[in-house]
Amino acid sequence: MNFEDFNLSEKTLYAINEKGFEKPTPVQKRVIPILLNKEKNLIVQAKTGTGKTAAFGIPLIELLESKGYVQAIILTPTRELALQVSEEINSLKRKRLKILPVYGGQSISRQIEHLKRGVDIVVGTPGRILDHLERKTIDLSKVEYFILDEADEMLDMGFIDDVEKILKSTSDEKIFLMFSATIPRRIIDLAKKYIKNYEVIKI
Ligand code: AMP
Repeated sequence: MNFEDFNLSEKTLYAINEKGFEKPTPVQKRVIPILLNKEKNLIVQAKTGTGKTAAFGIPLIELLESKGYVQAIILTPTRELALQVSEEINSLKRKRLKILPVYGGQSISRQIEHLKRGVDIVVGTPGRILDHLERKTIDLSKVEYFILDEADEMLDMGFIDDVEKILKSTSDEKIFLMFSATIPRRIIDLAKKYIKNYEVIKI
């Protein structure tokens, strides 16, 4: 299987080629077609290094157009990962999409300025995203894609309550995607509480 088989636009294929990706990784083969068709919610068991970021990054840059409001949110357990994910998506995009990393320790007023000017994809840590929700400086009501990265780490670090509050601020009309190296009981419980139909993929 090649990237051409996903029916992606020339722009996206060009970006993938520029990144030096020759063939989709196993997680990309499974996840990219489902996300492109907005078919269903997914819980994906995959570790870092498997190409999971591009597995959701490629469909996002293919499907989204710059609209000036948050259409996708990716939650990560650490600042480093938020930055890494945001850079990977930035390096893939060939459109005028605005991607903003939003994590603690960074100037909140600068984040607010960027958010006011309009952001399409937010990549953030739960604490800071919640802070923006409480200040009403971020609106997640039109989010179409909600992605939880390294969900097990997120639970271990005690972010579950924050994640639930953030989930509640989004609409039911979204696609939900969760990546986790392990799938403990608590992950399934979280999914059952908030997600109607989902499929579990183990790589
Ligand atoms: P991740 O698992 O998302 O942290 O990705 C690990 C590394 O693999 C990153 O440096 C990606 O840029 C790279 N990568 C992702 N997809 C591919 C691919 N299809 N072929 C080669 N490298 C890839």
